[in-house]
Amino acid sequence: MKRIKPFTYFAPATVSEAVGVLAKEGVGAYPLAGGTDLLVRMKRGDLAPGALVNLKRIAGLDGIVKESGGLRIGALATIRAVELSSVVRASHPVLVEAAGLLGSPSIRNLGTLGGNIGRASPASDMAPSLIVLRGRIGIEGVEGKREVAVEEFFKGPGETVLSSGEMITSIYVPEMQEGSGAAYMKIGRLEGMDCALAGVAGYLALGAKGREVREVGLAVAACAPMPLRVKRAEEVLRSGDLTEERLQETARVVAEEVTPISDMRGSGWYRREVVGILAYRVLAKAWQLAAGDGGGR
Ligand SMILES: Cc1cc2nc3c(=O)[nH]c(=O)nc-3n(C[C@H](O)[C@H](O)[C@H](O)COP(=O)(O)OP(=O)(O)OC[C@H]3O[C@@H](n4cnc5c(N)ncnc54)[C@H](O)[C@@H]3O)c2cc1C
Repeated sequence: MKRIKPFTYFAPATVSEAVGVLAKEGVGAYPLAGGTDLLVRMKRGDLAPGALVNLKRIAGLDGIVKESGGLRIGALATIRAVELSSVVRASHPVLVEAAGLLGSPSIRNLGTLGGNIGRASPASDMAPSLIVLRGRIGIEGVEGKREVAVEEFFKGPGETVLSSGEMITSIYVPEMQEGSGAAYMKIGRLEGMDCALAGVAGYLALGAKGREVREVGLAVAACAPMPLRVKRAEEVLRSGDLTEERLQETARVVAEEVTPISDMRGSGWYRREVVGILAYRVLAKAWQLAAGDGGGR
């Protein structure tokens, strides 16, 4: 194991103190939440921050609360808290599903939602579901507060729209519509201890007859430089009533639209094959849930 380079450590008690330190310390300063990603990269020698700003002492950033029109999850809410939350299960069960597929219980107990999004890993398990639910990221910095759609937050592997001196404070997801359903599925090499080789989240809101498509969402993990909304495939899904053939055609377009790389987890060719299969399965499940056959909204 490589030696960790010295860094300055801060443990602010408020968000304004934290963003003040982040702004003052500049690009070498990193927020530290659960540390399941950041500390691993530091130990491996992949990252040498000049400063760590521990967010864990900031009170009130780990709440999961219903708001008018939606749900707000604090950046410090752990993945385990999301997985076990009866509030999330009742309003956005797909987030419970995605959280339950992330890492192992020990990782989920420490890892936070803000850390999962802030890392901007292309393989983030939470991002695709948040994208299809039209989630918004609450950001605070020295200049003030702003909100950004989850799908616009990622700029590339490890890159986000956050400026130096900004941090994520919460993630907001609007209520799911009546007659809607959503699902997330992933394939990894080692169950529980590996990031996604490919992941897909799908959202469908249907008309009263169960075939007329009112709203759709489709997003992938680990098949592009960032968690990605696959808009061309969404168009296919939106272009007429739901049929078995339309699902198959949509899945084919997902496989075309992604730009997967080959790495130690799998080849680009394999990723393209499995992402189409996952897309089909996810949409079939979302359809079933939306039609009221299995506990959707
Ligand atoms: C064995 C193992 C298995 C894993 N499996 C998975 C998996 O299956 N799926 C998956 O998606 N991930 C996986 N991970 C990655 C990681 O555990 C998760 O992404 C976790 O949610 C990260 O949260 P954290 O709080 O630990 O982040 P940290 O490690 O504290 O931080 C991660 C990054 O986000 C930044 N950050 C943290 N909080 C904020 C904030 N509030 N605002 C702005 N930036 C912030 C940090 O500066 C850092 O760059 C795995 C990791 C390990 C070690």
